[in-house]
Amino acid sequence: MSKACQLLHERISALPGFTGTYDPTDLPTNGIYFVFETGETAHGGRRIVRVGTHTGDNNLQKRINEHLYIPNKDRSVFRKHLGRCVLNARKDPALSQWEIDLTPRANRGNHFTPALKEAQDKVEAEVSDYITKNLSFAAIKVEAGQRRLQLESSLLATIAQCKECGASGNWLGRNHPNRLSFGTIGLWNVQGLKGPPMTEREVEMLQL
Ligand SMILES: [Zn+2]
Repeated sequence: MSKACQLLHERISALPGFTGTYDPTDLPTNGIYFVFETGETAHGGRRIVRVGTHTGDNNLQKRINEHLYIPNKDRSVFRKHLGRCVLNARKDPALSQWEIDLTPRANRGNHFTPALKEAQDKVEAEVSDYITKNLSFAAIKVEAGQRRLQLESSLLATIAQCKECGASGNWLGRNHPNRLSFGTIGLWNVQGLKGPPMTEREVEMLQL
């Protein structure tokens, strides 16, 4: 299991890494992305801290932008988690405001105030700042939608069940208010971690 994860990390780390200034022509339109984070290491290099994909076709860049570069947590559970950790780390009472989803119409009607929006925007800016300073990503092309979802689960299971991949002592995710969701696995993903991991051969066969 760890050998497959080792090979996975070697292969993905060797891909070009991107940040918010990426050139769209350098990315596939359909695929899977892998996020790296400053200070997080495994297998002698950078550790994969998140794996993600998209459902609708040709949406890879849209999803990456929503998760990493567009300041709207209501379109991204990842940004929501990052904000929770930033706020909970300093026991900031703004956490309860951050939890309010302003997207669904009913909720927006009930909760929306300019002050709340302003409070959330401040946290969005902090999350964006953290992402700019600490996160980068790589991506691989996977055309078929069903294959993308299967592969995302297999990749996550491979990393989550690897004994050599774990959160550093300073990992931001350790500050999550729901520690059971994150613990020491060190992934910003919560679902799809318990399936069958990939074999070394399957990692070798990945077309990068
Ligand atoms: Zn590993």
